[in-house]
Amino acid sequence: MEQVSHKRTAVVAGGGIGGLAAAAALAGAGLEVTVVERAPSILDVGSGLMLYANGVRAADAISARLGARVRADGHVTGPDDVRLLLDSTGNVLSKEPIGQVGERLGAPQIPILRTALQTALLDEAVAMGASVRLALAVEGYAGAPDGRVTVRLSDGSAVTADLLVAADGIKSAIRRHMLDDGLPHYRGYTSVRGRTSGSPLYPQPFVANGRGVQLFVAPVGGGAMYWAAKITAEAGVWPAMGRTAALAALLETLDGWHEPIVDLIRDADPDVAVTDIHDRDPAPTWLDGRVALLGDAAHPMVPAMGQGANMALEDAVVLAAALRDHDDVDIALKEYERQRIERTSAVVLHSRRQGALDQGASQAEETARNDFMKAHGRKDESIFDVVAWTPTSHLSRKAAEA
Ligand SMILES: Cc1cc2nc3c(=O)[nH]c(=O)nc-3n(C[C@H](O)[C@H](O)[C@H](O)COP(=O)(O)OP(=O)(O)OC[C@H]3O[C@@H](n4cnc5c(N)ncnc54)[C@H](O)[C@@H]3O)c2cc1C
Repeated sequence: MEQVSHKRTAVVAGGGIGGLAAAAALAGAGLEVTVVERAPSILDVGSGLMLYANGVRAADAISARLGARVRADGHVTGPDDVRLLLDSTGNVLSKEPIGQVGERLGAPQIPILRTALQTALLDEAVAMGASVRLALAVEGYAGAPDGRVTVRLSDGSAVTADLLVAADGIKSAIRRHMLDDGLPHYRGYTSVRGRTSGSPLYPQPFVANGRGVQLFVAPVGGGAMYWAAKITAEAGVWPAMGRTAALAALLETLDGWHEPIVDLIRDADPDVAVTDIHDRDPAPTWLDGRVALLGDAAHPMVPAMGQGANMALEDAVVLAAALRDHDDVDIALKEYERQRIERTSAVVLHSRRQGALDQGASQAEETARNDFMKAHGRKDESIFDVVAWTPTSHLSRKAAEA
């Protein structure tokens, strides 16, 4: 390992899951980190997401404290837990042994509210020494004469740092400046997601499958469940409806489905999020001098395998480990790109295929999807290789002790 001779500085654009994870990991690895977030507050609305073994291991690698926090704030899947795979009338197609998978991989699946994960990451970043500036956007960057990067901010100021981490999401302005590779691609379905409580189905996780609709439901602890419906639709139609109308339209779409499932949506918190689902083709590079893409800015993927945030957590760990191991920032960034680009590109393409299969948009496709679940006892064609990822080591003594 080379000797680090001065405290290197990083600006992280974006305080989402990727940006906050990067901030915590980089600060834990000894960098002086400033997160710049455009929104006036960090917290996200409503729904939840699934941390798989790879994301849980990444959280553990950032710090033992963060790993303990996600276990405490989410719902830890037990060794005997199964996920029901249902058709729209409530028939059980299969019981997926999600607890056993966690046992085999040595880390559990943890469904968790987004707000809880964001708060845990924010607290961790701050505890590691990162500072967070809200209501401030990164507007551009340029190479500095000394080889570093100068970041232009929306308040008219500029800051020069050893690196800029672009964690500014699927619509990343920094990526546009770097790659100019057009808009993300709509993949033929939208999503409505939120949370519900008091369902008699709690805490049973399940995936219910209709024609052109898939409903994913998981417990997040405290009697609450998060849910995400993916609906085959024309681009733009559902987001334009607004929350209340989208929830009503979803209930109409579920007409005739198994009644307890419909009730779960009927009783949902009205604060739903409606998002059309996009991804991008894998990028040939994530680097421009001292600027590195991370999370959805680097590899936006459809949520079929629930891997977007998990990959962002992995990115954060690998980037921090590369900077820990190499004093030379340019070498560290190349190492980060080398370790991440091939893996995430494969997951982007795999998620795209899985997403098309999940939708079951025609009668034949619906039958093929349901038959797959019956025959294989799981939702996804292949997820084990993806979630089996492990980090090489804890990031630093500071991170291991935290
Ligand atoms: C329906 C659905 C279900 C999903 N389920 C899962 C799941 O179960 N598991 C999973 O792992 N993933 C899931 N995902 C994917 C996951 O939500 C994303 O991959 C993840 O949130 C990406 O995090 P990010 O930090 O890269 O981007 P974002 O969360 O988009 O954060 C980007 C941040 O950057 C800020 N920003 C933007 N521009 C600027 C700027 N110029 N300057 C400063 N700040 C800026 C934004 O305000 C935002 O806070 C799901 C996604 C969807 C749509």
